[in-house]
Amino acid sequence: MPGTMYPIYKFNGGRGATLCHKCSVIINNGFSNKIYCKKCESIMQMRPKQRIPVFLKEVNWQSLIGLLWEMDGDEKTEYTKRLNEKFDEMVEYWMKNPDLRVTQVLVNMGIIPNKQGFWYYKEDHELLIELGREARDIVLWGVNYTKGMKLLPKTKWTPIKDLATDHIQAILDGGYARGNSFYINLFKEELKLREST
Ligand SMILES: [Zn+2]
Repeated sequence: MPGTMYPIYKFNGGRGATLCHKCSVIINNGFSNKIYCKKCESIMQMRPKQRIPVFLKEVNWQSLIGLLWEMDGDEKTEYTKRLNEKFDEMVEYWMKNPDLRVTQVLVNMGIIPNKQGFWYYKEDHELLIELGREARDIVLWGVNYTKGMKLLPKTKWTPIKDLATDHIQAILDGGYARGNSFYINLFKEELKLREST
Protein backbone atom coordinates (compact mmCIF):
# COMPACT_ATOMS: atom_id res chain seq x y z
CA MET A 1 0.00 0.00 0.00
CA PRO A 2 1.53 3.35 -0.96
CA GLY A 3 2.12 5.68 1.94
CA THR A 4 2.49 2.94 4.51
CA MET A 5 5.11 3.94 7.05
CA TYR A 6 7.45 1.60 8.81
CA PRO A 7 9.25 2.14 12.10
CA ILE A 8 12.77 3.56 11.81
CA TYR A 9 15.15 1.17 13.46
CA LYS A 10 18.74 2.24 14.09
CA PHE A 11 21.59 0.21 15.47
CA ASN A 12 22.93 2.10 18.40
CA GLY A 13 26.02 0.53 19.95
CA GLY A 14 24.63 -2.92 19.29
CA ARG A 15 21.32 -2.54 21.10
CA GLY A 16 19.32 -0.69 18.51
CA ALA A 17 16.56 1.86 18.95
CA THR A 18 13.35 2.98 17.27
CA LEU A 19 13.39 6.61 16.12
CA CYS A 20 10.56 9.08 15.54
CA HIS A 21 9.85 9.68 11.82
CA LYS A 22 9.36 13.38 12.37
CA CYS A 23 11.94 14.52 14.91
CA SER A 24 14.31 11.51 15.08
CA VAL A 25 14.16 11.33 18.85
CA ILE A 26 14.60 7.82 20.31
CA ILE A 27 11.14 6.44 21.06
CA ASN A 28 12.49 3.41 22.84
CA ASN A 29 15.50 1.18 22.98
CA GLY A 30 15.20 -1.92 20.91
CA PHE A 31 12.65 -2.51 18.20
CA SER A 32 9.10 -1.25 18.48
CA ASN A 33 6.35 -0.77 15.92
CA LYS A 34 5.87 2.89 16.85
CA ILE A 35 6.24 5.49 14.09
CA TYR A 36 6.16 8.76 16.05
CA CYS A 37 7.20 9.94 19.49
CA LYS A 38 4.52 11.04 21.96
CA LYS A 39 5.16 14.74 21.37
CA CYS A 40 4.91 14.53 17.57
CA GLU A 41 1.86 12.30 17.85
CA SER A 42 0.08 14.82 20.03
CA ILE A 43 0.99 17.70 17.69
CA MET A 44 -0.30 15.77 14.69
CA GLN A 45 -3.51 14.94 16.50
CA MET A 46 -3.96 18.58 17.50
CA ARG A 47 -2.79 20.16 14.24
CA PRO A 48 -4.02 18.21 11.23
CA LYS A 49 -3.74 20.13 7.97
CA GLN A 50 -7.52 19.89 7.62
CA ARG A 51 -8.00 22.31 10.52
CA ILE A 52 -6.51 25.17 8.45
CA PRO A 53 -9.51 25.68 6.10
CA VAL A 54 -11.80 25.39 9.15
CA PHE A 55 -9.77 28.08 10.92
CA LEU A 56 -9.75 30.36 7.87
CA LYS A 57 -13.50 30.03 7.53
CA GLU A 58 -14.29 30.62 11.19
CA VAL A 59 -11.81 33.28 12.24
CA ASN A 60 -12.65 36.95 12.43
CA TRP A 61 -9.24 38.53 11.84
CA GLN A 62 -10.27 41.93 13.10
CA SER A 63 -11.35 40.46 16.41
CA LEU A 64 -8.31 38.20 16.58
CA ILE A 65 -5.85 41.03 16.08
CA GLY A 66 -7.80 43.43 18.23
CA LEU A 67 -8.81 41.25 21.14
CA LEU A 68 -6.03 38.74 21.55
CA TRP A 69 -3.10 40.97 20.80
CA GLU A 70 -4.79 43.90 22.52
CA MET A 71 -3.96 46.14 19.61
CA ASP A 72 -5.96 49.14 18.63
CA GLY A 73 -5.83 52.31 16.58
CA ASP A 74 -2.88 52.69 14.21
CA GLU A 75 -1.23 49.47 15.30
CA LYS A 76 -4.32 47.43 14.51
CA THR A 77 -4.74 49.17 11.15
CA GLU A 78 -1.11 48.47 10.26
CA TYR A 79 -1.26 44.74 11.07
CA THR A 80 -4.58 44.33 9.32
CA LYS A 81 -3.08 45.98 6.25
CA ARG A 82 -0.03 43.70 6.31
CA LEU A 83 -2.28 40.66 6.71
CA ASN A 84 -4.42 41.67 3.73
CA GLU A 85 -1.37 42.24 1.56
CA LYS A 86 0.21 38.90 2.40
CA PHE A 87 -2.93 36.85 2.88
CA ASP A 88 -2.62 34.41 -0.03
CA GLU A 89 1.09 33.95 0.58
CA MET A 90 0.37 33.33 4.26
CA VAL A 91 -2.23 30.63 3.51
CA GLU A 92 0.14 28.93 1.07
CA TYR A 93 2.97 28.95 3.64
CA TRP A 94 0.66 27.62 6.34
CA MET A 95 -0.63 24.76 4.17
CA LYS A 96 2.99 23.80 3.50
CA ASN A 97 3.82 23.97 7.23
CA PRO A 98 0.69 22.66 8.93
CA ASP A 99 2.55 21.86 12.16
CA LEU A 100 2.78 25.59 12.82
CA ARG A 101 0.16 27.43 14.83
CA VAL A 102 -1.39 30.48 13.17
CA THR A 103 0.49 32.79 15.53
CA GLN A 104 3.82 31.26 14.46
CA VAL A 105 2.79 31.64 10.81
CA LEU A 106 1.94 35.33 11.25
CA VAL A 107 5.20 36.02 13.08
CA ASN A 108 7.30 34.07 10.56
CA MET A 109 5.67 35.97 7.70
CA GLY A 110 6.43 39.31 9.36
CA ILE A 111 2.74 40.14 9.58
CA ILE A 112 2.70 40.63 13.34
CA PRO A 113 5.62 41.34 15.68
CA ASN A 114 7.01 38.64 17.92
CA LYS A 115 5.72 40.18 21.11
CA GLN A 116 6.32 38.15 24.22
CA GLY A 117 3.28 36.47 25.59
CA PHE A 118 1.29 33.36 26.20
CA TRP A 119 -0.73 33.96 23.02
CA TYR A 120 2.14 32.65 20.93
CA TYR A 121 1.72 29.16 22.37
CA LYS A 122 -2.03 28.93 21.96
CA GLU A 123 -3.38 26.28 19.68
CA ASP A 124 -5.47 27.57 16.79
CA HIS A 125 -8.67 26.10 18.21
CA GLU A 126 -7.99 27.83 21.53
CA LEU A 127 -7.89 31.16 19.73
CA LEU A 128 -11.19 30.43 17.99
CA ILE A 129 -12.77 29.41 21.31
CA GLU A 130 -11.65 32.72 22.82
CA LEU A 131 -13.30 34.44 19.89
CA GLY A 132 -16.56 32.80 20.88
CA ARG A 133 -16.64 29.68 18.73
CA GLU A 134 -17.88 26.39 20.17
CA ALA A 135 -15.16 23.77 20.54
CA ARG A 136 -17.46 21.00 19.25
CA ASP A 137 -17.89 22.85 15.94
CA ILE A 138 -14.22 23.53 15.23
CA VAL A 139 -12.10 20.85 16.91
CA LEU A 140 -11.48 17.92 14.57
CA TRP A 141 -10.94 14.28 15.41
CA GLY A 142 -9.24 11.86 13.03
CA VAL A 143 -11.53 8.94 12.22
CA ASN A 144 -9.73 5.90 10.78
CA TYR A 145 -12.37 3.20 10.85
CA THR A 146 -15.94 2.82 9.68
CA LYS A 147 -18.66 1.77 12.11
CA GLY A 148 -18.01 -1.83 11.15
CA MET A 149 -14.28 -1.42 12.01
CA LYS A 150 -13.23 -1.31 8.37
CA LEU A 151 -10.06 0.72 7.85
CA LEU A 152 -10.76 3.88 5.85
CA PRO A 153 -8.44 4.61 2.88
CA LYS A 154 -7.49 7.83 4.63
CA THR A 155 -8.17 9.55 7.93
CA LYS A 156 -11.42 11.48 7.92
CA TRP A 157 -11.13 14.63 10.05
CA THR A 158 -14.49 15.24 11.65
CA PRO A 159 -15.77 17.95 14.02
CA ILE A 160 -16.61 16.55 17.47
CA LYS A 161 -20.30 17.46 17.01
CA ASP A 162 -20.51 15.12 13.98
CA LEU A 163 -19.05 12.04 15.70
CA ALA A 164 -21.53 9.31 16.59
CA THR A 165 -22.26 8.99 20.30
CA ASP A 166 -21.14 5.35 20.47
CA HIS A 167 -17.95 6.32 18.66
CA ILE A 168 -17.14 8.98 21.28
CA GLN A 169 -17.82 6.45 24.03
CA ALA A 170 -15.53 3.96 22.28
CA ILE A 171 -12.75 6.56 22.03
CA LEU A 172 -13.00 7.21 25.78
CA ASP A 173 -13.31 3.55 26.75
CA GLY A 174 -10.46 2.50 24.48
CA GLY A 175 -8.12 5.24 25.68
CA TYR A 176 -7.70 6.54 22.12
CA ALA A 177 -7.34 10.12 23.32
CA ARG A 178 -4.04 8.91 24.78
CA GLY A 179 -4.31 10.84 28.00
CA ASN A 180 -4.83 14.16 26.21
CA SER A 181 -7.03 15.92 28.78
CA PHE A 182 -8.25 18.52 26.29
CA TYR A 183 -9.89 15.88 24.10
CA ILE A 184 -11.01 13.74 27.02
CA ASN A 185 -12.86 16.68 28.59
CA LEU A 186 -14.31 17.69 25.24
CA PHE A 187 -15.66 14.17 24.63
CA LYS A 188 -17.11 13.95 28.15
CA GLU A 189 -18.83 17.31 27.76
CA GLU A 190 -20.19 16.28 24.38
CA LEU A 191 -21.70 13.12 25.86
CA LYS A 192 -23.24 15.12 28.70
CA LEU A 193 -24.68 17.61 26.22
CA ARG A 194 -26.27 14.81 24.19
CA GLU A 195 -27.71 13.13 27.28
CA SER A 196 -29.41 16.35 28.30
CA THR A 197 -30.99 17.08 24.92
ZN1 LIG B 1 9.00 13.07 17.31
